[in-house]
Amino acid sequence: MPILKLIIFLALSLEFCFFTTPFVKASATNVPILMYHYVANNPNPKDKARDSLSVSPDKFDSQMDYLSKNGFTPITLDTLYGIFNKQVSSPAKPVVLTFDDGYIDFYTIVYPILRKYNFHGVSFIPTGLIGGSYYMNWNQIKEIQASGLVTFEAHTVGHVNLPSLSYKDALKQMQDSKNVLSAQTGYPVNFIAYPYGTTNSSIQAAARAGGFAGGLGTWFGKSTGGGMNMPRIKVSGFWSIKEFASRL
Ligand SMILES: [Zn+2]
Repeated sequence: MPILKLIIFLALSLEFCFFTTPFVKASATNVPILMYHYVANNPNPKDKARDSLSVSPDKFDSQMDYLSKNGFTPITLDTLYGIFNKQVSSPAKPVVLTFDDGYIDFYTIVYPILRKYNFHGVSFIPTGLIGGSYYMNWNQIKEIQASGLVTFEAHTVGHVNLPSLSYKDALKQMQDSKNVLSAQTGYPVNFIAYPYGTTNSSIQAAARAGGFAGGLGTWFGKSTGGGMNMPRIKVSGFWSIKEFASRL
């Protein structure tokens, strides 16, 4: 009976709308924060630990290409905070691109690719290691900062395991990195990524006392509302573009 089929079709369509509409609306409060470390070919393939932290430049470029062609907008953590607190409206598909540790490949590989797509990135800097082998120096960081494409956020001074320190020392590690970084870049440093993702309630209280608006861990998930231990999605260098897309 055609009329019955039409009714069923309309009922299914409506159901589809009811189920999908809240999901689309929820995207602004269900934001993937992608986590990268090295974006470089592994100079030593026997170094499996480095393998697990590396994405090749070609793969990274194709991931950015995917985001660009599929309407994603990389935003800053300050914008994400504003979205969660209903101070700013969200783009249709927000995503945050984060890069830990301030390695030199951020300057030589990541930054040119971010420029190519006009994408915003967030770089977490252990301030005491800057200028050392394998790391960017302050001139490179300032040059990137001047582009307005990247914000630099805290990652302690010495890339320390914060819960192993006293409250006072942990607070100092976080505050000192914030102060040095904002003095060097002229940008307010409102977020910290805990090195190794290790944190607890005392560290998070110290981060709050130290003036941070948010903290980032390394546990897997999308961010649903900010806070002092936001999850991230560690991007694997072994993912196909389809696997990458399925995590967004
Ligand atoms: Zn780190």
